[in-house]
Amino acid sequence: MSRLLLRGADHLLTMDDDRRELTGADVLIENGVIAEIGAGLQADAPVIDAGGCVITPGLTNTHHHLYQSLTRAVPAAQDALLFGWLETLYPIWARFTPEHMFTSAQVGLAELALSGCSLSSDHLYLYPNGARLEDTIHAAAEVGLRFQPTRGAMSIGRSQGGLPPDDLVEREADILEDCIRVIDAFHDPAPGSMCRVGVAPCSPFSVTRDLMREAALLARDKGVMLHTHLAENDEDIAYSLETFGCRPGQYAQELDWVGPDVWHAHCVKLDAEEIALFAQTGTGVAHCPCSNCRLGSGIAPVRQMREAGVPVGLGVDGSASNDAGNLVAEARQAMLLQRVAQGADAMSARAALEIATRGGADVLGRPECGRIAVGARADIAVWDASGIETAGSWDPAALLLAGPTVVHDLIVEGREVVRDGQVVTLDMPGLIARQTRLAHQLMDRL
Ligand SMILES: [Zn+2]
Repeated sequence: MSRLLLRGADHLLTMDDDRRELTGADVLIENGVIAEIGAGLQADAPVIDAGGCVITPGLTNTHHHLYQSLTRAVPAAQDALLFGWLETLYPIWARFTPEHMFTSAQVGLAELALSGCSLSSDHLYLYPNGARLEDTIHAAAEVGLRFQPTRGAMSIGRSQGGLPPDDLVEREADILEDCIRVIDAFHDPAPGSMCRVGVAPCSPFSVTRDLMREAALLARDKGVMLHTHLAENDEDIAYSLETFGCRPGQYAQELDWVGPDVWHAHCVKLDAEEIALFAQTGTGVAHCPCSNCRLGSGIAPVRQMREAGVPVGLGVDGSASNDAGNLVAEARQAMLLQRVAQGADAMSARAALEIATRGGADVLGRPECGRIAVGARADIAVWDASGIETAGSWDPAALLLAGPTVVHDLIVEGREVVRDGQVVTLDMPGLIARQTRLAHQLMDRL
């Protein structure tokens, strides 16, 4: 039996069903599961001293494009709006190979791990030069994060009136066939699974109505989740009204893209009727505040969504539109952005942390993650509250108001991924050198 004991945390935010907060607490982990929570626990196990620390559940990232960590801060895309931004980046992404996908995924996931993230989804929707979804799955397995990659897709290229160049889109029959292949090969539905695959056409404007419908049928048949971008900004709403004759929420409903097995990224522009629809059907939302700020998309009505009962999680989104992938910083941004729109009581530090932990886990269909409770998976973030960022805080458990943005220890399924602020599963200097070399090669070829 593998065991690990976290001993003597100053504060433990459980995010359990009662949102209990404990002081001087220990957590005993056995075989990847939380076995006991309390004070003065005794066990024959390696010990992590959590004195001076705040313990939270590992954070959940519900929206990312890991491959984009190779195209951060591209000059021509730094100040562009969404559609222009995409048109700048597509030709660069068209040069990616399996090596680019693997390396950029490891960089993105290592960055997430350092920011306290234990569970991440990914949305990979382009497959140039032999790239495949498993390039990212193998990358995640080495990093040691719980991973929910989605097989994304685009099928409407420029010659059909779409945005992406024709060489970045695929035939719809090929897309569906590859979805089946990767689900059969890599999807593990078991509780505690380290890899669950989803189906994720890029957005309603990059595939046909038929593919959206077929994707929903396939996902239901296979028992996997559905994900896409929805209602991201005003252009997106205008496109939907013009092309489909309805708002994005209605379009999703028509195509059977609502339900507890569906989550949509952004949803900045959902109206009251769409929020009610999402609440009624249990359709999830991946809120990406930094990306929405960076692209000037607007402020998602997260408070209204949560009050209505919509499951909301947090996403850093791809590093071409963030450009950082720090999830705890993202949670702080979520809190601040709601306050810009709706006042200082619009979202508390604890509410934002809840969205970032159990909120996201629920959106991804993982109620066994995102909380510290006996029987839950042992995905735990340990934050050092003795540093300069917390010095003088009257409430260190209000981590997002004053606290570190790099985790001290991160445990995933009972295994250490970060120890003393360092990723221990990877050769980080080697990884950064590979990523830098690949980025420079892409620049040189432009
Ligand atoms: Zn996105």
